[in-house]
Amino acid sequence: MIRPIVKDVFFLGQKSGPATMQDLSVGQDLMDTLRANQDRCVGMAANMIGVKKRVIIVNMGILNVVMYNPVIVRKDSPYETEEGCLSLTGVRKTTRYQNIEVEYYDSSWKKRRQKYSGWTAQIIQHECDHLEGIII
Ligand SMILES: [Zn+2]
Repeated sequence: MIRPIVKDVFFLGQKSGPATMQDLSVGQDLMDTLRANQDRCVGMAANMIGVKKRVIIVNMGILNVVMYNPVIVRKDSPYETEEGCLSLTGVRKTTRYQNIEVEYYDSSWKKRRQKYSGWTAQIIQHECDHLEGIII
């Protein structure tokens, strides 16, 4: 289901709790909502559609990948960049890491560990910040 985008900074500033298999429908809603906003959005966290659970979605070219309980377990090569966010207006400066390694549960609730770099890694870092209540 396509959900409205939350722009309430107080709500977005709160930390999200762990996701369980009961939250697989949240992943589906993120799929639908990202697709509806794909022209101006490359990733989302569940709190952006009003759900304070640790679920994110990341556009990886033709694929949109949902990650449950993602944790960045390794990162290197910091750089300065500017980012925007569907929940905010304008862009802001931030520090990201070129290479990261992420542990997460996939849509079959299988635990995965995967390396990412560059643009995809940047989106994952932005969405993982949302789970901590951090908005660029
Ligand atoms: Zn954002």
